[in-house]
Amino acid sequence: MTEQYELLEPEKVAAYIDAHPDLAARVDTSTLDVTEVGDGNLNLVFVCQDGSGRGLVLKQALPYVRLVGPSWPFTPKRAVAEARAYEVHGRFAAEYLPAFYGFDAARYILAMEDLTDHRVWRGALTDGERHDGAAADIGRYVARVAFHTGVFGVEAKALKALVAGAISPELCEITEDLVLTEPFSGAERNWYQDELEDAARSLQTPELKAAAGELKYAFMTRAEALLHGDLHTGSVMVREGSTRAFDSEFAFYGPIAFDLALPWSNFVVTMARDAVLGRDEHGAWAATLFEELWDAFEAEFRSLWPNVVDPRVYNELFLERWLAQTQRDTAAFAATEAARRIVGLAHAPDLEALDPEPRAVAGRAVIETVKRLLLDRPETAAEVSAVAREEVAR
Ligand code: ADP
Ligand code: MG
Ligand code: MG
Ligand code: MG
Repeated sequence: MTEQYELLEPEKVAAYIDAHPDLAARVDTSTLDVTEVGDGNLNLVFVCQDGSGRGLVLKQALPYVRLVGPSWPFTPKRAVAEARAYEVHGRFAAEYLPAFYGFDAARYILAMEDLTDHRVWRGALTDGERHDGAAADIGRYVARVAFHTGVFGVEAKALKALVAGAISPELCEITEDLVLTEPFSGAERNWYQDELEDAARSLQTPELKAAAGELKYAFMTRAEALLHGDLHTGSVMVREGSTRAFDSEFAFYGPIAFDLALPWSNFVVTMARDAVLGRDEHGAWAATLFEELWDAFEAEFRSLWPNVVDPRVYNELFLERWLAQTQRDTAAFAATEAARRIVGLAHAPDLEALDPEPRAVAGRAVIETVKRLLLDRPETAAEVSAVAREEVAR
C-alpha cells in the first residue's frame, strides 16, 4: 500500500523551512529561490538558495519509484536509511559527505548542505574531465566506514545490535535482483540495443550464473560494515579539492567490496566511452583510477588497523589475507554492476547518450570485460585495469 504524507512543492518550501527553526537559521526565506533538481530514479530534491548566497538542500522520498510512477509503490523508509548513513558515516568520514542538517521522519525529508558548487562525478567523467584525487578520497571514505562500523572497530555484542537495526529489505532486494541476478538470468524488464543481443545472451551461461550466485550470496550474508550501498559515480559530487558521497538510501550491512566495486565498474564504462570517442588521454587516466581508489582504501585501512578491537586473532597475517580477498571481491562485484548498466533495467547516461554504433561497440567491450572479470578472476586493481584496457582497445 502507498503510504500517505504531504509531498513538498517548490512554492511550499519556504513555509516548510520557516516551520523548522534549525533550517530557518540557515537561509533567509524572504529571498529564497527554490528549484527542484531531482534527476534520479526515486526522489524529489529541492535546492534552496537565498539572496545572500546561503543555501540548503531538501530531499524527500516519494512513496513510489519516480522512474515509473505511482503504479510502482516503494517504501519511503529508504530516507531513514539515508539519514542513518549520514549520521553514522559522518562520525568517521564527515569530510567526504554533505553536512547533514536533519531528518523529518514523518514526511521523509532530509536536509543537507547545498553542493551546487560541485558537480556529479559521473557527468564530469562523461564530459572528459579529470578530478585527480576523487577516487582516492572515495577509497579513504570506504576504509573509514568499513573499519569503524564493522567487526574490527566495534565491540562484538554492540555490533550485533547495529547490524539488526540497519536492515533495508526492499532496497536490498533491488540490488539483489537488478545487479546480482537479472543480467545473468535474463528478465522481462531487461533492455538493451538489438546489436547487443548476442552479448547479453553470452552472460547467461551456467558458469556466469554461478559466479553471480556467489556474489549475491556474499551480498545477502556478509554483514561486514554499514555500506553506502549505491556508491556509483552518480552518488559522488566533485570539486577541486573536495569529494562528497551522497544519496546513501541503499545503506545496509553488507560486504565492503561492494562499495569499492561500484566506482570501479564506472571506470570500466568511462574507459569504453573514451575509447569509442577517441579520447585516449582521458581513457588512459581513467585506467589509473582502479589503483588510485584501491591504494587509498588499503593505506587508510592499514593506518586504522592498530586500533582493531580484538587483536588476538585479527593479526597482521589475517589483515593481509582479508585485504587480498576484498580486492578480489571488488573486481567481481564491479563486473556485476557493469553488466547491469548494459543489459539490465537501469542503465546510466554515460553510454546511452552515444550514437548507436559507438554505443554498441562500447557496450560490447564492457560485456567482454565483465566476462573476463568473472571467469579469469584478476586479483588486483592493476590486473582489472589491464583487462579493461585490452577489451576497450579491441
Ligand atoms: P535519487 O536518490 O533520486 O537519485 P539524489 O540524492 O541522487 O536522488 O539526488 C538527485 C540529484 O539532485 C543529484 O544527482 C544532484 O544533481 C542533485 N542533488 C542531490 N543532492 C544535492 C546536494 N546536496 N546539493 C546539490 N545538488 C544535489
Ligand atoms: Mg541518486
Ligand atoms: Mg542522481
Ligand atoms: Mg538514490
